[in-house]
Amino acid sequence: MAPLGSAEQGPAPCVTGFALPVIEPALAHGGSRGSVYVCCMTRSLKMPRSPGSSSDEALFLGCHLSISDGYHKAGLSALSIGANTFQFFSRNPRGSKAKEPLPGDIERLGELTREHGFGPLLAHAPYTLNPCSQKETVRDFAKTVLREDLEKLARFPHTYYVMHPGSRGEMALETAIEFLGEALDEALEQESSVMVLLEGMSGKGSEVGGALTELKDIIDSIERNEFVGVCLDTCHLYAAGYDIVNDLDGVVAEIDSTVGLDRVKAVHINDSQHELGSKKDRHARVGEGDIGLEAILRFISHPALRGLTFNLETPGTLESWAEEIALLRKGWQPA
Ligand SMILES: [Zn+2]
Ligand SMILES: [Zn+2]
Repeated sequence: MAPLGSAEQGPAPCVTGFALPVIEPALAHGGSRGSVYVCCMTRSLKMPRSPGSSSDEALFLGCHLSISDGYHKAGLSALSIGANTFQFFSRNPRGSKAKEPLPGDIERLGELTREHGFGPLLAHAPYTLNPCSQKETVRDFAKTVLREDLEKLARFPHTYYVMHPGSRGEMALETAIEFLGEALDEALEQESSVMVLLEGMSGKGSEVGGALTELKDIIDSIERNEFVGVCLDTCHLYAAGYDIVNDLDGVVAEIDSTVGLDRVKAVHINDSQHELGSKKDRHARVGEGDIGLEAILRFISHPALRGLTFNLETPGTLESWAEEIALLRKGWQPA
C-alpha cells in the first residue's frame, strides 16, 4: 500500500500563495516521518462493545490514518490494528486542496463503521487554518475552508471536525477571540449536523487555546455554541502545565469548571517528549515520554472521561500503533 500520509504529500499552495513543503502530521508535532494521528468520541451514543472490552462500555480508540487510498480503506486499516475510530485530515494539512471522495466511498465507510461499532471519527482541519489571524485574507480563507469542510463532512458517518484555534501573532487575546467567534458563527450559520471541536493546545508562541480558560472564552464568544465542543490532547495539556500525572482529579475538575466536561468529545492520546509546562508540542509514543503509560491509562480510565473517543497521534507505523492500541486496551480499567 502507499506510504501513510502520501495523500498529503507534494507541494501545496499555502494561504499566502507560496508553495510550502507539506509537513506530515507527526512532523508537525515533532515526531518522526511516517507517523500519524488520532480520533474522537461522544458519551451520548449507545456504546457497543469494543475489542478487548470486558464490560458493555466501549473504549473508542484509534489513531490518525492516511486517506490516500480512500475513506473505506482507511476504515479497513483501522480495523486491522484493533481501532474502532480514526482521525484523518479534512484536506491537505498544509494547503487548501480538498480531495473529493470517490462515488460510494463514504457509504462503504458508513457500512463498515456501523457493522463494527465504531465510535465517532475525527476530521482534522489543515494546520494553515488561522481564523484569528490579523490578516483579513487569512481569516476569510479559514471561513471558506470551514464552510466547505463542514458541508462535506455532513455526508460522513458520525464525524467531529477538530480545529486548532490558531495563532494571534501580536494581536491582543481579546481581539483574537472575537475573530474566532465571528468565523465560527459564520461557518455554523449553514445547516450542518457536524460539531466543531476546538483543540486544546500546548500554548507555544502566540498559539491561542493553551489555557482551558481561553477555550472557554472562545466558546462563550460563539452564538451558536451548541455545535462547538472541545478535543483535548494529553501531550498538549501536560506541556501547557496541567499535571495529569500527579493531579489528574484536579485537572479534570479544572476542565469541568472551565469548558465543562460535557463539551469534551474527543482526546488525542500522546506522550510528551518534554516536561510539565514546557510549552513544547512534541509527541512521544505512549510510555516513551514524560507522561508515561500508567498516567495515560489512568486518564483513559477516569470515570469522568470514559466514553470519549481517544486517538493516538504518536510517531510510528501501522504496526506500532497496533501495539500501542493493544497496550492501552489491555491496561484500560472499565467501570
Ligand atoms: Zn501536538
Ligand atoms: Zn491538532
